Amino acid sequence: MKELILLKCGELALKGLNRRTFEEVLMKNCRRRLETLGNFKIRSAQSTIYVEPENEEIDIDEAVDRLSRVFGVAALTRAAIVEKDFAKIRAAAPGYLREALEGARTFKVEAKRSDKTFPMKSPEICMEMGAALLEAYPRLTVDVHHPDVTVYVEIREVAAYLHTDQLHGAGGLPVGTSGRAMLLISGGIDSPVAGWMMAKRGLEVMAVHFVSPPYTSEFALEKVRTLCKKMSAWCGRVRLVVVPFTEIQEAIRDNCPEDIFTVVMRRMMMKIAARIARENGCGALVTGESLAQVASQTLDALACTDVASDLPVLRPVIGMDKDEIVRIANKIDTFETSILPYEDCCTVFTPRHPKTKPRLGYVLEAESRLDAEAMLACATENTRMETIG
Ligand code: ATP
Ligand code: MG
Repeated sequence: MKELILLKCGELALKGLNRRTFEEVLMKNCRRRLETLGNFKIRSAQSTIYVEPENEEIDIDEAVDRLSRVFGVAALTRAAIVEKDFAKIRAAAPGYLREALEGARTFKVEAKRSDKTFPMKSPEICMEMGAALLEAYPRLTVDVHHPDVTVYVEIREVAAYLHTDQLHGAGGLPVGTSGRAMLLISGGIDSPVAGWMMAKRGLEVMAVHFVSPPYTSEFALEKVRTLCKKMSAWCGRVRLVVVPFTEIQEAIRDNCPEDIFTVVMRRMMMKIAARIARENGCGALVTGESLAQVASQTLDALACTDVASDLPVLRPVIGMDKDEIVRIANKIDTFETSILPYEDCCTVFTPRHPKTKPRLGYVLEAESRLDAEAMLACATENTRMETIG
C-alpha cells in the first residue's frame, strides 16, 4: 500500500499573510532533514504538508522520526493513500490498520471530508467504516468517548487518507523564520537546551565556543561538536565558531582582581560573541544562564555581562530550575553528553570567593587594565568555523 506522511502545521495557521512563506521554509527544512533518506515529494495544502516517498524502499518510520523533530510541525502521522472510492477505502482499512486494531479493545471512526463533492457525508462514512471494521475485528467495540484507537478517514482533494492517532510534533515555528542568533555553547547542560528553545521559536542557531588550550582539552571541544550534532537533529545544520581564549584568560588572571575574574571573562565572551554574531548576520546572542544558579548569574552579575553585548541577549532558561532544564536535555538527548567530565574554560582559574554582587564601575575599572580592543581583534581573527549536521 502506498503511504505518505501528513504534517499538521501549528501556529503557522495564525500567521495570516506570512503563512505561505512559513510553509515554504518548513517544507525546505523538512526536505533537508530527509535528504539522506531518499527522495520525497513535498507539497502543502490547507495547513497540511504532504510528504510522499518517491520509492517503496524508503524507511518511513525513520522519516517520521526525523520529521517529529522539525519545528513548526504541530502533529504528524503516517497514512495510507487510497483512491477516493469508498469501496476501495473500506477494502483497504482492515489490512492497513491491523496492527493498531489488533492491540485495541475499543475504537471509533472520524471522517474529515474537505472534498465536498465526495458523494458520502462524514457521518455516513463513519457508520459504514465502523461496520466494516467491526466485521473484520469482531472482538472490537465502538466507544465514541474514550476509544483505544481512533481511525481517521480523510477525503481530501487528490486522494483519501487512512490513519490512526497522530503523534505530537516538535511544535514551535520553522527554523529560520525568526532570523538568526548566536548561541554561546559550553559543554554543559544548560546552553544546548537554551539553543534548542530559541530554535523552537524559529531562530536559526549558530554557535560559538571558547577554548583555552592547554587548560582545556581537545576532548572538551569534541564534546561540544557532539552537542551541536545532537542539536542539529532539531535545529538543522549548526555552524560552530571556535574561538581561542587562552591569552585573554591569562591576561585577566594576571591583571584583574580574583573575585571578579569570572564576570570580566564573561564580558569578554559577550563582546567577542557579539562581534562574530554581527559579522554573520545574527540579531541576538543566546546563553544558558539561569538566575542565581552560580555567582556569575546573580542579577548584579548579569547586569554587568548584559551591557557588554550590543546585541540583545536571550536567556531562555533564566527562570528554569535545573531539573526542568535536565528534563529537556534528556528529551533532546544532550544530557548524557553534557555530563561527561570535562574542563570548560569557565572552570579554569575559578575564583575561590567570587563576588556575587559585582558593581559595574568596579568591573570596568579592572577591565581598563586590559587591552580589551586588541584582545578582541586577535580572538575574532583567529576563529575557525565548522559546519555540523
Ligand atoms: P552550561 O550548562 O551551559 O555550561 P553553566 O550553568 O555551567 O551553563 P556557566 O559555565 O557559568 O554556566 O556559563 C554560563 C553560560 O555562558 C553558558 O550557558 C554558555 O551560554 C556560556 N558559556 C560558558 N562557557 C562557555 C564557553 N566555553 N564557550 C561559549 N560559551 C560559554
Ligand atoms: Mg558551563
